[in-house]
Order: sequence, then structure tokens, then C-alpha cells
Amino acid sequence: MAIWQRNRDAVREEKKDSETATLTTDEEWRQTLTAEQYYVCRMKGTEPPFSGKYNSNKADGAYLCVACGSELFSSDTKFDSGTGWPSFWAPVEKERVAMETDDSYGMRRVEVLCGGCGSHLGHVFDDGPRPTGLRFCINSLALDFKEKPRE
Ligand code: FE
Repeated sequence: MAIWQRNRDAVREEKKDSETATLTTDEEWRQTLTAEQYYVCRMKGTEPPFSGKYNSNKADGAYLCVACGSELFSSDTKFDSGTGWPSFWAPVEKERVAMETDDSYGMRRVEVLCGGCGSHLGHVFDDGPRPTGLRFCINSLALDFKEKPRE
């Protein structure tokens, strides 16, 4: 998983001059997110499995960060993991997400955060399908889906 290991501070440093790095106060997050979105994105909460609106979404399109609108995942890399959470084998670009070690709940996991705004998205595991072997297990509540217009 080494090539995907990214430090949130490194992402912030790279994105220092871009608009996506705009720091938002906790008060602003509380105003712009719903209570459920705030719980997942800012309190690192997890939605119950099979509860999210994108778990079984098979439409073509882009998945954006619900907090800042950054494009994070594509339907092209979405797969049915059977876990009850939307699962992807890669982000649209590795710079779009940040990773941090998460030792909560007595487990060592790798947390996935939005590279733009630092919101919690979910976790990444190394039991995903080819070509990356990764499984980005993401909360629907942290995502906003934009369906691709039909041509
Ligand atoms: Fe974001």
C-alpha cells in the first residue's frame, strides 16, 4: 500500500495555494453539513452498513466530497464489496485523498480523508480487487453523487 500512503500535512502543503485548502471553522461545518454528515465527516463517525444511499448505486458518474465538492471517486472504480458501504479500488487521483493510521477501537486501520478539506471519508483495506488490490470503504454520507449526463 506504500504508494498510496500519504500524509495529510503533505497534501495540505501541496494544495496550499489552491482554493480547496480553504480552512473552514467548526462552526461553519456545523452550519453547512447536516447532523449526520457532520457526525461522519467531522467526528469520524461511521454510518450503519447497508444504510447509505450510494451503497448499491450503479449509475455512471462522479462521487464528490460532500463537504467541499472535490471529486474523489469515479463509478468506473466502484465495485460491490458486500460490506454495505460504497467501495472503490482507487480515487480519481491519489492526491485527492489523504491517509492516516487509525488505532481506534483496538484495530490498526488506515483512515481515508478528503485531501481538499480533511473530512473523514472512511478507511482503506488491502483486500480489494485488481489492479490496485485496495478497497476504499467510504461512507455514503461523506459523498455527493453527480450522474454523468447521457450523450
Ligand atoms: Fe472535502
